Amino acid sequence: MKRICLDPGHGGEDPGAVGRSGLKEKDINLQVALKVAEQLIEKYAVNMTRVDDEYVSLSKRCEIANQSKSQLFVSIHCNAAENTGANGIETYHYYASDRGRHLARGIQWGLIALTDRKDRGVKEAGFQVLRGTVMPAALVELGFISNDEEEKLLQNEEYQVACAKSIVRGIEEFFDRGY
Ligand code: ZN
Repeated sequence: MKRICLDPGHGGEDPGAVGRSGLKEKDINLQVALKVAEQLIEKYAVNMTRVDDEYVSLSKRCEIANQSKSQLFVSIHCNAAENTGANGIETYHYYASDRGRHLARGIQWGLIALTDRKDRGVKEAGFQVLRGTVMPAALVELGFISNDEEEKLLQNEEYQVACAKSIVRGIEEFFDRGY
């Protein structure tokens, strides 16, 4: 059975981005991650860096992923920007990681197809959870909590289900194609 590590960003004393209505990124990240886990659990062994509202350091998240010997790592976040007009979805992988890029692309394409949000593309970054994990890794930004329209969407059950489905599809496609 293949092993997957899901990483709901932030938690506990670290709320992540906070929207104008008070919505906290950490809560959305966890809600979506749990929906992803629910869909994966029949076919895969799922590890999570947190399952409740708990603070977990970035190095601890990497340690959990690496010790679980997962074949894949997906970190789930929401975006924020000073410009409240900024919107859309983007997915990151570690610099020059080909397998990370395949994973990020599959997830990003699914997200755009299922949510119809603006495609901000697949990007490279050196985020600690991408750098410190030994398996192919992607970090998704599911929309902007700083944008009023997307702040509402991110709390919407259907939107969360669509995001979760897209992430699951990206993971399955990654394995199906033999990456
Ligand atoms: Zn975040």
